[in-house]
Amino acid sequence: MTTRRNSTLSRANRPDGLVDVTSCDISALEELMAGMGKERFRALQVYKWIWQRGVTDFHQMTNISKANRAELANRATIGQLVAASIQESTDGTRKYVWQCQDGSNIESVLIPDENRPGPGKPRMTLCVSTQVGCAMACTFCLTGDLGLKRNLSAGEIALQPLLVQQDIGPDVPITNIVMMGMGEPLHNSDNVVVALRNMLDEEALNFSHRRITVSTVGLIPAMKKLASDLPVNIAVSLNATTEEQRRTVMPITKRYSMEMLMQACRELPLPRAKRITFEYVMMAGFNDSMDDARRLAVLMRGVKSKVNLIPYNENPDRDIRRPSEARVKEFQNYLVNKRIHTSVRTTRGRDISAACGQLGKAAETMAKRL
Ligand code: SAH
Repeated sequence: MTTRRNSTLSRANRPDGLVDVTSCDISALEELMAGMGKERFRALQVYKWIWQRGVTDFHQMTNISKANRAELANRATIGQLVAASIQESTDGTRKYVWQCQDGSNIESVLIPDENRPGPGKPRMTLCVSTQVGCAMACTFCLTGDLGLKRNLSAGEIALQPLLVQQDIGPDVPITNIVMMGMGEPLHNSDNVVVALRNMLDEEALNFSHRRITVSTVGLIPAMKKLASDLPVNIAVSLNATTEEQRRTVMPITKRYSMEMLMQACRELPLPRAKRITFEYVMMAGFNDSMDDARRLAVLMRGVKSKVNLIPYNENPDRDIRRPSEARVKEFQNYLVNKRIHTSVRTTRGRDISAACGQLGKAAETMAKRL
């Protein structure tokens, strides 16, 4: 069988020569089936078995003939993640540590929001990881301490919502997915895009694009490509208001200056109703002055934006402090008065190290223990 070198199908090929079907989108599955001399519609059957029924073995695919199932099992495999631990916080947040097939550990965090005003089901946000570790080395973030171990496959990314949903049962559907766990999603764009397609496809996980957010340090070319390829929400971790300030905490600023970043954000081809979310981790005495608030408001000019303030989650490995609530409020009020949509992210799951910037430590310790 011939496959284009960087095609989705070739990337789903594992070192052992088997194709991991969880890393295939529907067209890669069709290509796989065609290569095996099978009808196209078989691909859709396999696709649904995996993403809608959650089967983990080709032999469970009962609408496919035994001979075909056996042939599939010779040529392909169904990737898996094993739950190494599931912890629940006093606030209801659940942290999943997964063991990948190569022994690496990654984390996902499920954040229920029962207090959402209005009728309907509670919001259930799942925060997923996209890499083992991270190469971006933002100084305040614990995942950065690990360095980049490897990219997650498309399967390892999209399996996180599938398996968490199986764990919590069908009565409480995951409503939102945020790629804000371990890793920089746009440093693993090819796999992230395949995973996103499987999250969005109505024959697979069937999430609305309005409920999926990809968060990035601002890798400009990948960000532009994502915005033109898929209609998902984009969040940019800004975290500073001047070039020098951002350089000291986010080394990526040396490659893409803030000016380049803001220009790219102004020009991003966004669907009409969409805004870019700017995440702003507030660190006491570093970027929480009212001068920062003023500069941030200026930066937001001409961008379809909203700001999400994230008071720093303190941890024993850093001297960084979170600003007082009063300061956060004052900062927010300033922006709101400038007519900038501004929210403050509540810290969730701190007691189980599941809060923003805390992921990776547990996974690392667990990997050592295993
Ligand atoms: N690499 C992507 C995805 C990670 S998202 C990105 O940077 O956007 C993680 C978010 O948590 C980012 O906005 C990051 O700035 C923020 N963060 C990291 N450490 C934090 C901490 N200790 N407290 C609060 N937020 C933190």
